Amino acid sequence: MTTEVVDPATGEVLGKVPSTSVGETDAAIGRAHVAFERWRGVAPGERARVLRRFAAVVDAHVEELAGLEVRNSGHPIGNARWEAGNVRDVLDYYAGAPERLTGHQIPVPGGLDVTFHEPLGVVGVIVPWNFPMPIAAWGFAPALAAGNTVVLKPAELTPLTALRLAELGREAGLPDDVFTVLPGAGSVVGERFVTHPAVRKVCFTGSTEVGTRIMAGCAAQVKRLTLELGGKSANLVFADADLARAAATAPYAVFDNAGQDCCARSRILVQRPVYDRFLELLEPAVRALRVEDPTRETAEMGPLISAAQRDRVAGYVDGAKVAFTGSCPDGPGFWYPPTVLLADSPADRHWREEIFGPVVSVLPFDDEADAIRLANDTEYGLSGSIWTRDVGRAVRVARAVEAGNLSVNSHSSVRYWTPFGGMKRSGLGRELGQDALHAFTDVKNVFIATEE
Ligand code: NAD
Repeated sequence: MTTEVVDPATGEVLGKVPSTSVGETDAAIGRAHVAFERWRGVAPGERARVLRRFAAVVDAHVEELAGLEVRNSGHPIGNARWEAGNVRDVLDYYAGAPERLTGHQIPVPGGLDVTFHEPLGVVGVIVPWNFPMPIAAWGFAPALAAGNTVVLKPAELTPLTALRLAELGREAGLPDDVFTVLPGAGSVVGERFVTHPAVRKVCFTGSTEVGTRIMAGCAAQVKRLTLELGGKSANLVFADADLARAAATAPYAVFDNAGQDCCARSRILVQRPVYDRFLELLEPAVRALRVEDPTRETAEMGPLISAAQRDRVAGYVDGAKVAFTGSCPDGPGFWYPPTVLLADSPADRHWREEIFGPVVSVLPFDDEADAIRLANDTEYGLSGSIWTRDVGRAVRVARAVEAGNLSVNSHSSVRYWTPFGGMKRSGLGRELGQDALHAFTDVKNVFIATEE
């Protein structure tokens, strides 16, 4: 069986990719299990060298990987270069880990007590279609650094860069079966990662709906699990903020990757005295967004990933109060214009649900307590921004908002050396930084009696 891969900017079929069967998945997991016994025994310095070489090979292929992502995912070429560069940087960062993954010596009477960070075994990484390269690397790089082997399933719609990354890993010297990419259906390959006993951890990024199923499946085997799920993040603009900057950057915070971003600040909350002024400033910024052929260097936003995703997004806008929109090409391809909606109340469907498209909803608030209440009135808790010149307020609000990643006077969410992840139904566990590394190991405690 094969799956067609489509260019979302044109609707053209790019080619066909094999769909891995259950039997082939089992065989690959079996080989990864055998490879684990060798890989975990490779000296830390050598594991580090292989990962550094992998980073260098990716660096030499940034342009090729970016070009592939533009065609498969419709990301603007500038964004796609950043994404390929992020894979390189994440590999480079975790290449420093094997030699630093140290345990403790704990004082206990009558002996020596030490801890070890043991690798888990085979790790199954399941990737969504919105950021195929970085999200893959956030799973496989720390997992490999900690001594695990990896089987990775890219999303059905966007398998091309992951397949290429596996080839580049081999070129860099990763031994056979240490990192295997298995394109195919979530219900086949992904489900098998959950049910196969040799897979010791599942690292899932995707929808809350599928994540919930995966968590239930993992529970049966007490399988380790990381979940990076949906979001409906708030962008809080207080009356004392640098309004011009807040408005100029708000489009980037939600329309980047055409809004197909789990961290998208898709709910803008503006303090009532500056609400009208903020919208006046936001409108030209939205209209100026360059939504165009993603191969152009000037492109700031590309198409949506599929016709189904475009139609789903349109369903949220139908009947809603549209403040203004930007523009987009007519097609072919799966285009949708950046759209700003005015919420009547926090009960509006477009205010509550993750749209995962270039749509943002705006609502006024009265005071700090009101802002915090509205920001937290969601099942999600991934990211958020706070715009204010009052340092005390920035800290108070950042502490009170239930989200894993907050930024003050900025929309930055992801740096590979800081922890990233969600609260509430946005996920479980953290990726990136040192926290993620330890999550790919189990701590073992050994007591050695010293008394005669
Ligand atoms: P999705 O949940 O439909 O699919 C994600 C992956 O899971 C795909 O590879 C899919 O094939 C696989 N899958 C589907 N069913 C499965 C099953 N039963 N068992 C195992 N695997 C299965 O999500 P999507 O539509 O690809 O991605 C969009 C979602 O991902 C959004 O909700 C978005 O917020 C979320 N996301 C979250 C983060 C984060 O870091 N929190 C990052 C990116 C995307």
